[in-house]
Amino acid sequence: MKLPSLNIQILLGAIFGVAIGLYFHQLGAEHRVAQGGLYASGLVGTLFIDLLKMVLIPLVFCSISVGIANLSQHQQMHRVWVTTLIFFVSSMAIAIVLGMTASLYFKPGSGLQIAMFEHAMQNFEAKQLPLSEFFAQFLHGLFVNPFTALSQGNVLAVVMFALILGITLVMGGERFHHIRALLQEALEVIMQIVGWVMRLAPFGIMALLIKLVAVQDIAMLSTLAKFVAVVVGTTLLHGIVVLPLILYLFTGKSPLWFWRGAREALVTAFATSSSAATLPITLRCAIQHLHVKPEIAGFVLPLGATINMDGTALYEAAAALFIANLIGVDLSLAQQLIVFLTAMIAAMGAPGIPSAGMVTMVMVLQSVGLPAEAIAILLPIDRLLDTLRTTVNVQGDMVGSLVVQKLTLQR
Ligand code: ASP
Repeated sequence: MKLPSLNIQILLGAIFGVAIGLYFHQLGAEHRVAQGGLYASGLVGTLFIDLLKMVLIPLVFCSISVGIANLSQHQQMHRVWVTTLIFFVSSMAIAIVLGMTASLYFKPGSGLQIAMFEHAMQNFEAKQLPLSEFFAQFLHGLFVNPFTALSQGNVLAVVMFALILGITLVMGGERFHHIRALLQEALEVIMQIVGWVMRLAPFGIMALLIKLVAVQDIAMLSTLAKFVAVVVGTTLLHGIVVLPLILYLFTGKSPLWFWRGAREALVTAFATSSSAATLPITLRCAIQHLHVKPEIAGFVLPLGATINMDGTALYEAAAALFIANLIGVDLSLAQQLIVFLTAMIAAMGAPGIPSAGMVTMVMVLQSVGLPAEAIAILLPIDRLLDTLRTTVNVQGDMVGSLVVQKLTLQR
């Protein structure tokens, strides 16, 4: 019997995952079947993420250095850099404006009483994260001994070292062609391993979604329904309208074409809630299905997975306005501008792992004098919202790679 394509298997895995998760949720946490099922899906889901993380660091290292080295002409390299950064900042800015406009219009949180959440807030100790300190920490974390960074899985530092290595290989030209060829071959080997890991994706995704759906706190979700609706609605608007429109305007490619090529990565991002863990699959989809040149994909996507986060930026800004409403504070225009800027910095600084945005959000709240403890209110629903924002984060990276390719190489 011929199996359906991997794409279809992944979609089926996702659908079964949600259905079985709902069933376990109904059975209740005490039920033996649900307990056994959750244990098994916990094992399989974690194993899948472990496999992705196993290839992540060598992949980032090789793909960025080889990507840069292959963008050999200096002028082109400069253009790729600039276009990529402009794209990242602009798409995040649009996402934040969307999130803030919807929050100002619908005012989620204004009907709720902060007293309802007092208990959760008291039990939550927020770490101080002033902007200046965050910035210093971020800068300090950029340059680390590459061996330490590689062994500790520090993606940002690995990205930075790989960038420098790539530039050095370009400068050195023929002199370093052995190292270049070695890295190129290593990249091919790792992509081969990614191909094998992908075969397990339908099971991994199913297991992750079973667990996610089964343990949802429905009561909290309905209390915060309006906020959830604003965040989900604007994130979907960004993913279904804004990003496809940008893609169409710059490259002429249709949203359907994009969805067909990108869906393995998008579904994986949804299930794992981690742009970093999804990166191996993002790269594979961009190169194999969306025909992004490996040197462009190898540069834009790993960088994007670490700093370009449209969904996170939108969420951070919307959540700050929600908390202001909840507390009954009216933010001035200047304070709204501060939220805009800090939300962007916080999203850039958030690593591509589950709930990372919640940690850096402390900074956004503090920048306008809101209590960081209020994050405790959002924690119970964060894993659920993280699914969608991570999907849009990854989508933004892939659209970025296509736009950058169009604007830099085909002129
Ligand atoms: N989970 C997100 C990502 O990996 C980051 C976040 O917003 O928490 O892209």
